[in-house]
Amino acid sequence: MAKLMVFIDGTWLYSNLRHLAKESNQPGFHIDYGALPKAIAKELCEQNGLGELDLVRTYLFGSYPINYNLVDEDRARKRKDFFTMLREDYHYEVEAFPIDYAERRILHDDREADDPFSPREKCVDIALAASMLYYAAVADGYDIAAAVVGDKDYFPLFQKTRQLGKRIAVISIRQSCAKMYSDRQDVKKLKDYHIIWLNDMIEKIAWSPVEMDVECRSPLHEGGRLTTTTMRLRNGQPYFCEVCRAKFAEQKEEQMREYTSAGINGQMDKEESHEDNAYFDGQVEALIPDRGFGFIKRTDGASFFFHLTHLTNAEWEAVGVGAAVRFTVTKNPIGSKAGAAGEVTMTLETDSSEVTQQ
Ligand SMILES: [Zn+2]
Repeated sequence: MAKLMVFIDGTWLYSNLRHLAKESNQPGFHIDYGALPKAIAKELCEQNGLGELDLVRTYLFGSYPINYNLVDEDRARKRKDFFTMLREDYHYEVEAFPIDYAERRILHDDREADDPFSPREKCVDIALAASMLYYAAVADGYDIAAAVVGDKDYFPLFQKTRQLGKRIAVISIRQSCAKMYSDRQDVKKLKDYHIIWLNDMIEKIAWSPVEMDVECRSPLHEGGRLTTTTMRLRNGQPYFCEVCRAKFAEQKEEQMREYTSAGINGQMDKEESHEDNAYFDGQVEALIPDRGFGFIKRTDGASFFFHLTHLTNAEWEAVGVGAAVRFTVTKNPIGSKAGAAGEVTMTLETDSSEVTQQ
């Protein structure tokens, strides 16, 4: 059985979803990433009369924002949750790279009209190329590489991969595909099959939302807690309703304004900012229970704002002053102004330290 690996340029796919959404006539169109690789394998077989394929693995290459305006935290978190879902639920291999937003809003439309800033993506295409060539060169990698791409930069990769004796299938979107990929003459000799259009597979790859009744876990929630949502919840992650999430964004914006009014907008020390996976130890030093946020004192004495949505493994009600935490930093403190925490995890010592304090 021929072995198939699927390589997805996630950034390209994500930014061109709107074309598929438009054709599907579903404004909330999303791809079912569990179904996508299998649908591609099936389409490849059917269009080319291939026997059954062994779908070995699916790779997705993408990016996630760092150093963005705190108001967009919900959006940034959704991106991270998306990658987690791909890994945990669908067994994708995900390679994701940070994009620095220099304190700006993530969406172009949310930024000032005259702001020349444009986010720079790094590494995504190179990482895809490195993986495809690597598995072409090792024994038992794949026989066919299915590339879900549109940008023209990939053609040397496809040529070299074919020179290693592997077959290339290109899967793309009509409105966003380099001409050479759909060329039936294949002048550049970069593929072994006619191109497959996701446009023609919309029904097979559309995600069908499932409605669920979930309780909002926000301590600030008003009224009945049960709400209907189609949101996918990560294991153990608390659900916050639309209203509460809007409230959270407002609070963070408020916090953000205070931060920027100190005249430090964009003045972050790049050297020490955003070691993405750096964790720090600290203790909860203050809580404002009715607002849903508080402050953490790091072991070096610096203070960090944190919000109840930052908690990874504890309920807001369970957090007490003095509790030991590990946390990531999304903003460094400047002068006497507190910084901001990212993920906040209550550490094991929490229980014992709380006991000794009580
Ligand atoms: Zn709520």
